[in-house]
Amino acid sequence: MAIATVNPATGETLQTFEPLSDDAVEERIARAAAAFDRYRLTTPQQRAGWLRAAADVLDADAKSVAELMTTEMGKTLASAQAEVGKCAKALRYYAEHGEQMLQPQPADAQAVGAVEAYVVHQPLGVVLAVMPWNFPLWQAMRFAAPALMAGNVGLLKHASNVPQTALYLEELFRKAGFPDDVFQTLLIGSGQVEAVLRDDRVVAATLTGSNAAGQAVATVAGDALKKTVLELGGSDPFIVMPSADLDRAAEVAVTARCQNNGQSCIAAKRFFVHADVAEEFTRLFAEKMAALTVGDPMDEGTKVGPLATESGREDVERYVADAVEKGATVVTGGKRVDRPGWFYEPTLVTDVTPEMGIWSEEVFGPVAALHTVADLDEAIRLANEHVYGLGSNLWSEDQGERLRFIRDIQSGMAFVNGMTTSYPELPFGGVKQSGYGRELTEVGMYEFCNAKTVWIG
Ligand code: NDP
Repeated sequence: MAIATVNPATGETLQTFEPLSDDAVEERIARAAAAFDRYRLTTPQQRAGWLRAAADVLDADAKSVAELMTTEMGKTLASAQAEVGKCAKALRYYAEHGEQMLQPQPADAQAVGAVEAYVVHQPLGVVLAVMPWNFPLWQAMRFAAPALMAGNVGLLKHASNVPQTALYLEELFRKAGFPDDVFQTLLIGSGQVEAVLRDDRVVAATLTGSNAAGQAVATVAGDALKKTVLELGGSDPFIVMPSADLDRAAEVAVTARCQNNGQSCIAAKRFFVHADVAEEFTRLFAEKMAALTVGDPMDEGTKVGPLATESGREDVERYVADAVEKGATVVTGGKRVDRPGWFYEPTLVTDVTPEMGIWSEEVFGPVAALHTVADLDEAIRLANEHVYGLGSNLWSEDQGERLRFIRDIQSGMAFVNGMTTSYPELPFGGVKQSGYGRELTEVGMYEFCNAKTVWIG
């Protein structure tokens, strides 16, 4: 994939970039390693100050960065602005709480025969972040804020279709006053990742993206015995029970499925609806999907913009065609929008069955797959049959149902009467093929720390 900015709303190539040569990559790794030698000795107070400064820079740059993201990958300007705000919030969260998280944690010295015993979290070194285009600022920030707070140094290999946002990220940390080379962007293709990861000076990697990319990176990291955190695909279930507030559930279902033009790992993708309310919920859901304004993502009134890439739209078309061929019903949407750019209508498909790709894989576009169930047990059983286990959603007023859902659903996150969302205050991540490790909170920060045991006799 060429490294280029291509506007998905028009299909126009705006700027292309040459990937870094192997020598240039080597030079940047050397600079990152040298930066770590100095940066690890800075104090948490200093790092918190730079994080705060980065949040202020983001606030000041908010308009232009949001427009850049919309231009590069098609998210609506409103959601791009929200993403910038969320990144500033995460930076401030770690600035505020990071020092506390990095305090030595005392252990029971007497029990281990010591005068003093404690655990101290120290940075690991240069960490490679391989990131996707769907939340081009947030995905990188979710890694960068805790990693930099802990004293690590970052090398970002961003998706090839968001090069300018990638370059902005490096600039952001520079403008905030972080020491030189603490966060660098490598404009490289995916074929160059292995050499970076095998370099002895790079100690760990985090990847958010498809399972194929995750497998490739984890294979190399496993071979080189390096720590990884993987945030991979998701096909989150959204279960609606008879006691739910149906109108509210349908409203949130639309947002949960169509946020970011349908391209979110934690989007609700499979809807399991109790038979008693299936007809009414389907009607409400379809009405609200059909009411979404699809159009220029720069327009204030637009709710759904284009898909990020032409091949992404072709994938979505293929999933819907496959489902229809195997007996599914398109209730609303179901085709591309007749205009330049890679637009696809918000779509609701019912009568989906396990042999359809729309059920068993991850559809990265505004297409909801709905299946009627007899009871909660069936919904949970079907939800758990999927290889993914990222987020999950239940709509119910019944306390017993809620507890069963929380106990039995195989996912990293369980949301009741709301949609899966990431917050700095809650761990984020999945189980099964959705990956391993966690981001955000202190749990995310410690992923790239050496929890060093200290015993003093
Ligand atoms: P990818 O997973 O291919 O891209 C994510 C990142 O991984 C990019 O930086 C990419 O670089 C890099 N990458 C890809 N292949 C390799 C590799 N073999 N070794 C090292 N790095 C690699 O996502 P796509 O954009 O191709 O999307 C494909 C599908 O992935 C989507 O339809 C969706 O199902 C899923 N996806 C899930 C995301 C999530 O948040 N869970 C996010 C994005 C995609 P480059 O861009 O240069 O190829």
